[in-house]
Amino acid sequence: MPQRIQVRLRGIVQGVGFRPFVYNLARRLDLAGWVLNDSSGLMAEVEGEETAIEAFLEALGNEHPPLGWIQEREVASLPCSGEPGFRIRPSVAETGKFALISPDIGTCAECLADCTDPENRRYGYAFTNCTNCGPRYTIIRDIPYDRPHTTMAGFEMCAECRAEYEAPANRRFHAQPNACAACGPALSAGIQEAQRRLADGEIVAIKGLGGFHLACDARNAAAVGRLRARKRRSDKPFAVMVRDVEAARQLCVVDDAAARVLAGRRRPIVILPRAEVGEALPQAIAPGNPTLGVMLPYTPLHHLLFRGAAGGAGASACQPEGTPPAPPCPTALVMTSGNLSEEPIVVDNQDARERLGGVADWFLTHNRDIYMRADDSVVRVFEGEERVMRRSRGYVPETLDVGRDLPELLACGGELKNVFCLTKGRHAILSQHIGDLENYETLVFFEETLANLKKLFRVTPRAVAYDLHPGYLSTKYALGLAGVEKIGVQHHHAHIASCMAENGLTGEVIGVAMDGTGYGLDGAIWGGEFLVAGYAGFTRRAHLRYVPLAGGDRAVREPWRSALGYVGTEERMAGVPEERVRAVRRMIATGTNTVMTSSCGRLFDAVAALVGLRTEVNFEGQAAIELEGIVDPSCEERYEFDIGGEEIDFGAMMERIVRERGAASSVVASRFHNTLAAAIHEMCLRMRRESGLQRVCLSGGTFQNMRLLGLVARALRGSGFEVFLHKKVPPNDGGIALGQAAIAAERLTGKS
Ligand SMILES: [Zn+2]
Ligand SMILES: [Zn+2]
Repeated sequence: MPQRIQVRLRGIVQGVGFRPFVYNLARRLDLAGWVLNDSSGLMAEVEGEETAIEAFLEALGNEHPPLGWIQEREVASLPCSGEPGFRIRPSVAETGKFALISPDIGTCAECLADCTDPENRRYGYAFTNCTNCGPRYTIIRDIPYDRPHTTMAGFEMCAECRAEYEAPANRRFHAQPNACAACGPALSAGIQEAQRRLADGEIVAIKGLGGFHLACDARNAAAVGRLRARKRRSDKPFAVMVRDVEAARQLCVVDDAAARVLAGRRRPIVILPRAEVGEALPQAIAPGNPTLGVMLPYTPLHHLLFRGAAGGAGASACQPEGTPPAPPCPTALVMTSGNLSEEPIVVDNQDARERLGGVADWFLTHNRDIYMRADDSVVRVFEGEERVMRRSRGYVPETLDVGRDLPELLACGGELKNVFCLTKGRHAILSQHIGDLENYETLVFFEETLANLKKLFRVTPRAVAYDLHPGYLSTKYALGLAGVEKIGVQHHHAHIASCMAENGLTGEVIGVAMDGTGYGLDGAIWGGEFLVAGYAGFTRRAHLRYVPLAGGDRAVREPWRSALGYVGTEERMAGVPEERVRAVRRMIATGTNTVMTSSCGRLFDAVAALVGLRTEVNFEGQAAIELEGIVDPSCEERYEFDIGGEEIDFGAMMERIVRERGAASSVVASRFHNTLAAAIHEMCLRMRRESGLQRVCLSGGTFQNMRLLGLVARALRGSGFEVFLHKKVPPNDGGIALGQAAIAAERLTGKS
């Protein structure tokens, strides 16, 4: 007996080869019917024998395209129509509906083979892609995802590309950015010229997927130094791109989990420990840093740079007789964001020449526009799993399922590493990394991205959540919006709610939020917080002891000021002129330009200053990174600490560090990490005794420190706690928008 069903799929089901998959599957099973894309996903009707329909449904779940993700499947019975054959019907757009868009995906193995095979018509073509790979989010202007809605709209497909695009069995069937050298985007110059210039030590601005990179030969110390000087980026680490996992192993320790992440389709920058043996790169790549950020090529252009396939200006080319020998292929390239200091990454060709002209010696651009800028994402690997630290290209705009329907909201995030969050149905839609909201250009980027994501996901926020810090640009932006309800959320509450939401938790948890700076309810700067928290509210059970911090923003750049908040009056600070130390001490004594803080970040600063590691930093977290870097994992000693009521006091530890000035800094750093972990563990035990709560959420930028995270998580698990960590969402301020949204949703739905 024939039957007919209607199947509706939601999730990432467009632009990733779902329709040809369904088409081929139905033909294989001898089913009649059709499939189409509409504004909320994919719809199909199939008619045939019952066993074939069962096989169809099973294969939908098991065999779907690699980039696809089925979030929801609805199946309904229909009367049979008797229509013969199976076809792909045109897309249908419906107002108010939306479909999920795939992030940009690294070149697949088949496309890499195409563009490096001299026999293939795409040999040397830098914009090769298919339904399994290539640009998505960065080129999409609107939905449904069809070519006219992308920055490929202006490129008319040639007959060969058109034939691929229209053949359901082809890997490029409905691959919207499908192109070749005859019809598609082209480079402004040849790959070989870029290679020659890089080999000569030039700095080359290269237009990529989500923006420009500034590239140079990572083994050329002079070139790296020049790039650092011109970019006015004194110590912040540069990321390095290498050809493949083997090349990464020459530089770093790459275990199996890290290799999988490196070579995965998202292609993030993976922060890896440097190899003790093997080739060393110039110090200037990441001064004083025990780790290195490494990524593998993720566009055909990158692959060609490392492989030396001949390629003219976008055209496949052969090497005529008598031409000079091909330039050497680079083995490692610095690939840092094409921007000036903290401005957003440059995406536009003209803009690149204006803004990066003083940095780059030469430009390798192309004529495919980048609609949405997206920086490289940054991850670490912890306990065999990827942990996102900066969520951008390759991840955004993938949504997080929050497990229940939320009202439509905007959460504006924080100030540093800003990310905002929109909600729609069960989806939390996190923006890509916007950056530090400290200048006009970044605010414009925030507003452009917000407008774009509101359009793509059809979101009309009825409320806006914001951080309580009155000085944050994101807060000012939220408070300036008209016609929406405004919901202030405390910074560390947002951190813990973010960890809860990511892990699908409800109820109450013990929340440990360790970070640099967050505005507290008492006007102090919080940052070492122990909360009993749920979405509806929180109690601040305990915190690191308040210490005075003198000098406002300068205190963050000068860790010795943090040390003075902890240690006695007779102490001298190595490397700091005595009159400056005296002046700061006076400020602390009189309370001038001084705030009280429980910041864990400042605690790290103080220890780093006391062991003589740093008196000044030039990017956030630098002292903590260096302190983590010198820890000796075999050291199990620790210092004493005191817990008095609501405060954890590290005064005794600080005094001992001062008394033992001769102790090796690695010993001090190890004992310090052990002490902090033990104190956190002890406080959680006390909170469990009082509250009966078993679940602990760890959040805040300090938990980017994998040494501390490991010590704390192991100790807590050893005592029977259930420990929840971040994975897809950054533990740093890039994650707080998700928490703000979850809290605001609770307040709205609790009220109505
Ligand atoms: Zn491909
Ligand atoms: Zn073509």
